[in-house]
Amino acid sequence: MRPRPLFWQIFPVNLLISLCTVLAVSWYAIATFTTFYYEQMVVDIEARAILLEQKILDLLMESPDALQKFCRQAGRRARTRITVVAPNGAVLADSDEDPQRMEQHGNRPEISQAYSGQTGSSLRFSRTLHQDMLYVAVPLSIKSDSKPAALRLSVPATALNTVLETIGQRIFLASALIILLAAVFSHRLARRISRPLEKIRQGAEQLSSGEKNKLITFHERSISVEMNSLIISLNRMAEQLMERIMLTRRQHNELAAVFSSMTEAVLAVDAEECVIRMNRAAGHLFRIDPHLGKEHPVQGILRHPELMEMIRATLRHNHSTEAEIELFDGQQHIALEVRVVPLQDNVGQPVGALLVMDDVTRLNRLENVRRDFVANVSHELKTPITVIRGYVETLLDGGVDAHADGKNFLQIVLRQTGRLDAIIDDLLSLSRIENKTGDRDALLDFALGNLNPVLHAALQTCAFKADEKQIRLELHCPPDIKAVHNPALLEEAVINLLNNAIAYSPVGSSVIVRAKVQQDGGKLLIGIQDKGCGIRKEHLDRIFERFYRCDKARSRESGGTGLGLSIVKHIAQSHGGTVEVESQFGRGSTFFLKLPDPSCLS
Ligand code: ADP
Repeated sequence: MRPRPLFWQIFPVNLLISLCTVLAVSWYAIATFTTFYYEQMVVDIEARAILLEQKILDLLMESPDALQKFCRQAGRRARTRITVVAPNGAVLADSDEDPQRMEQHGNRPEISQAYSGQTGSSLRFSRTLHQDMLYVAVPLSIKSDSKPAALRLSVPATALNTVLETIGQRIFLASALIILLAAVFSHRLARRISRPLEKIRQGAEQLSSGEKNKLITFHERSISVEMNSLIISLNRMAEQLMERIMLTRRQHNELAAVFSSMTEAVLAVDAEECVIRMNRAAGHLFRIDPHLGKEHPVQGILRHPELMEMIRATLRHNHSTEAEIELFDGQQHIALEVRVVPLQDNVGQPVGALLVMDDVTRLNRLENVRRDFVANVSHELKTPITVIRGYVETLLDGGVDAHADGKNFLQIVLRQTGRLDAIIDDLLSLSRIENKTGDRDALLDFALGNLNPVLHAALQTCAFKADEKQIRLELHCPPDIKAVHNPALLEEAVINLLNNAIAYSPVGSSVIVRAKVQQDGGKLLIGIQDKGCGIRKEHLDRIFERFYRCDKARSRESGGTGLGLSIVKHIAQSHGGTVEVESQFGRGSTFFLKLPDPSCLS
C-alpha cells in the first residue's frame, strides 16, 4: 500500500470515530426518548381510563345504550376513542363506531393483556380509523371470580410522532453541529501533529542537501513538549553533523589539493582495473583530463605493457612492486620511477592498487651531467699531472744532470702546474658563479652603473696579450650606457670573451668590443667581434658546455681550460641575461652578451 501523509491518516479516522459516536448517541437518545414518551402517554391514558373505570362499570350494569351514549359523549369531549370490550371479545360500546358492526376485539394485544388483569398497550395502524393509534386497555372487573371485560382508550399516534419528529430534528441538528465541530477540531489536531513532522522532514531534506543555515525552525506556541524536544535534539544532531561534514569537506579539500598539486603522478585503480582517481600530474603525463579518466579501464590510458604487468602483479599478489621504466609520450622519452602499492579497505581487504610515478628524467640527466663532469675534470687534471709526473721521473732518473734538458723539463713542469692552476681557478669561479645564480636576490653587489669603466678595465687587462700578437683592440661604447650589473663578474666575462677572441685570431688582426642598446628587444648588447678562425656550425650548440672544445689541441696550446665560455654563460645568467654567438668558419666570430635594459625594467 502506498504510504499516505500523516494528516490523512489522522483526520479521517478521527472524523469517523466522532461520526460513529454522534450517530450512536443520537440513536440511543431517540430510542430513549421514544420509549420514555410512549410510556408517559401510556401512563397518561391509563390514568384517564382508571378515572372512567367506575362510571363505565356502573353504566355497563345499567344499560348498553347508556354506555354507548356516554362513550360517544366522553370520547368526543376528550378527543379520545373509548371502547368497551366484553370478556368474550365482543365490542359493547365504542365512541367512534357502531359496536354492532365491529368485529371481535378479543385478539387485540392490549385487550389480551387487559383480560389477564394488567394494563395493556399497543401502537399500530387502525384499519377502522385508517391512522396510527396508541391503544391502552385496562381490565374491568365485573365479577371478582369471572374473566374481566376491558376498557380501551386510544388516541391518534400523530402527537407522539410529531414530538418524536421534533426531537429527532433537534438531535440531528445537534449531531450535525457536533460533527462539524469534530471535523474542525480533528483537522486542527491532525495539522498540529503532522505540521511539526512535516517541518522536521523538510529540515532533514535541506540538511541532506547540505544547506548549513537551514536547521529546523518552528515558531508555534501550541507545539507539544515531546515534539519540541525532538526538534531541539534533531537541531543539535544536525549541528554536530554539519560540523563533521564541514570538517570532512575541509579535510577532503586539503587532501584533494595535496593530491592534485603533487609533482608525482598518482593513479588509483580498483580491482577491475578501472581508474578510481588520478591527479593532475598523471593526467598531464598520460595526456588525459584527470576527471575524464575516472572509471575508464586503466589499460586504455596507460598503454604500457610493463606498467600494466606491475598493476596486475600487485592486484594478484597484494604486494608492492617497484621499477624504473621508460615511456615515450610521442615527443620525448620520459624516465619514470614507478611504485605500485596495494590499496586496502578499512578491514584490510585488497580493493585495488595505487601507482606513484616520479619523473626522474631530469634527475637522470643531471646525474649524467655530473658523471660527465667528474670524468671530464678527472681527465683534464690527469693530463697535466701525467706530464708533470713523467718529467719529474725523468729528472729523478738523471735528467737533472743534463743541465739544458733539466731546465727545459722544469719549464714544462711549471707550464703544466700553471695549467692545473688555471683549471682549478676556472672550476672555482664556475662553482662560485653557479652558487650565486641559484640565489640572485641574495646578492647585494648587483647595482645600476655605467658599463664604460667595466669594458675599459677588461680591455686593459687583455692589452698585453693582444700586443703579443699585434692585435688591435677597439672599444665602441656610448658614454651613458648603463646596466644593473656586478662589475667584477661582468669584467671577468668580457675578459674571457676577449681572451678567446685574441687566442683564436691571427696575428695583426683586430678585435672590436661594441656596447649598444637593442632597439626592439629591451636588451643591452655587448658584442666582442674577431676576425679569427671562426667556429663550425656543428659546434655552435655545444661550445658553452663545460670542457667542450672545438679543437682540443689548439685550445690546450693557447692555454684554454674549456671552461671559459661556460663561465661567461653563468655570469650572463646571473645578470638575468644570455650569451649568444654568431660565427662563420674561417672568417671570424661575434659573441653577444645580452643584459636586461634597465630603462625597460619596471
Ligand atoms: P677554451 O678555454 O678552450 O677557450 P672556452 O670555453 O673558452 O674554452 O671555449 C670553448 C671552445 O670554443 C674553444 O675550445 C674554442 O674551440 C671555441 N671558441 C671560443 N671562442 C672562440 C673564438 N673567438 N673563435 C673561435 N673559436 C672559439
